[in-house]
Amino acid sequence: MTENIGIPFLEGRYSPTLDMWPIEAKEFNRIHTFYDNLKEGKYTTTKCKGCGHISYPPRVICPECYSEDLEWIELPTKGKVITFVEKSIAIPIGFGEPLIDAWIDLGKDSPVKRVFSRVINCESGGIKEGDEVRFVVFDVPGHPIEWRREKWIAERVYFAFEPAG
Ligand SMILES: [Zn+2]
Repeated sequence: MTENIGIPFLEGRYSPTLDMWPIEAKEFNRIHTFYDNLKEGKYTTTKCKGCGHISYPPRVICPECYSEDLEWIELPTKGKVITFVEKSIAIPIGFGEPLIDAWIDLGKDSPVKRVFSRVINCESGGIKEGDEVRFVVFDVPGHPIEWRREKWIAERVYFAFEPAG
């Protein structure tokens, strides 16, 4: 069960500029594969086929050699909290309390050693440094798309981590 994902109660009542979730449709987003992979429960990023550089977040061009020949690689879906911040005031509209962001250690064998992510499904005081967390994908309200005189609702998902205990 996923709670506290943000924004849905504002559906239809906010301007797109207040929408904190990316438009994931391939017509608008060159890393849409990242979101396609999320929909399959996979946590991925890009690796340059030319020089081997691994980027996180994923890129469409290698920042080291400027190649656009990139491949998708999978990241671990478990990690440990390095440090975190838990907010109970000044929380962005649409998000509940507590709002927790953490640096997460994905382990020494991971292509990306540490990532910054929200931690959800966690009550206030529910995590501490060193705790194990796991990757979780959740639904985000769809975004209306207009493209070449057609309109549709783009389904969206996003990811966070949650306590693994
Ligand atoms: Zn490269």
